[in-house]
Amino acid sequence: MRPLQMVDTKTQYLKIKKEVDAAVLSVMESSQFIGGKVVNDFAASLAEYNGVKHVIPCANGTDALQISMMALDLKPGDEVITPSFTYIATVEAAALLRLQPVFTEVDRQTFCMDVEALEKAITPKTKAIIPVHLYGHAAPMEKIMAIAKKYDLFVIEDNAQAIGCDYTFSDGSTLKTGSIGHIGCTSFYPSKNLGAFGDGGAIFTNDDALAEQLKMIAAHGQNKRYYHEVVGCNSRLDAIQAAILNIKLQHLDEYIAARRKAADFYDKAFEGQQKITTPFRNSYSKHVFHQYTLILNGVDRDGLNKYLSEKGIPSMIYYPVPCHKQKMFDAFGGKNYELPVTDWLTERVISLPIHTELDEEQQTFIASEILNYIN
Ligand SMILES: *Cc1c(COP(=O)(O)O)cnc(C)c1O
Repeated sequence: MRPLQMVDTKTQYLKIKKEVDAAVLSVMESSQFIGGKVVNDFAASLAEYNGVKHVIPCANGTDALQISMMALDLKPGDEVITPSFTYIATVEAAALLRLQPVFTEVDRQTFCMDVEALEKAITPKTKAIIPVHLYGHAAPMEKIMAIAKKYDLFVIEDNAQAIGCDYTFSDGSTLKTGSIGHIGCTSFYPSKNLGAFGDGGAIFTNDDALAEQLKMIAAHGQNKRYYHEVVGCNSRLDAIQAAILNIKLQHLDEYIAARRKAADFYDKAFEGQQKITTPFRNSYSKHVFHQYTLILNGVDRDGLNKYLSEKGIPSMIYYPVPCHKQKMFDAFGGKNYELPVTDWLTERVISLPIHTELDEEQQTFIASEILNYIN
């Protein structure tokens, strides 16, 4: 059996090595390392794939979130509502810009923003909502957009874990996540579903004026070279990364299908187990399984983690400390929150290896060792 990893980017690379190597070499030969045709081509292909008018590439997903909040012209103290049960990057940029993060509860089944809790968290100072499509399952965007409209709020989707996820509205129409809110953000961190060979990120919008603003902010606040209109930052996607991503984008649907197949295998292996809740798939969301995360019921999680690790099976806790309990947010009143569902999930989740290169032998071994431990 091949050794087990949380993600296997190496095997994935070897399958497209020829194309990728040629694309990287051609960027090197062109010596157009920043901007240029390769980056523009990737932005155009991604816009088409995601069904969105504008894609603004940038340096990473965290920058994408920061630039988005800068483009909305939010003022210090303005409130931004996000789930606490997410990766720190969702919230960090808000704090950096001196906005007030407001942590809200998630749904016990989907791990995504709880819309009732969201509406209750809205105050006259609220300016934006940042839903997260955690683990590759979409947040309930139709309801979130309706609430945003009712209270005149911006929505920035954190789509770092869900690129390629199809969202179905109640009228039967579909959109890809990241193109539903006013702005969508994504990351090309190597382990993400569309991963580069280094850092990368992108911002999506259908709004022409916002697109101009986002582009300007990512480029030192300039429209015209050396004329700086607003305070911006420097956030670019390298041409080498864009060349690699352009090739991987053509395989993204295959990659997602492979992840779903691996998820189906686990689902079946754990069927009927009282001590394990497998990932819920709401009918509005076509899960893209960035993570395959179980909820353990009455299982010693640290014990399981240790047992698996002794068998050569990696497993991870995403995330061991929810945002509101991070020291970073003490100064923002993080300690004042009571988020029982978030705490409940934080104590019980465990993520298993999931990626495009898992085979049945590996998955059979993983599942049987888990069942060995819990039963
Ligand atoms: C990965 C990730 C980010 C940040 O992306 P980077 O490219 O690492 O900066 C933001 N939000 C979520 C939910 C993520 O998983």
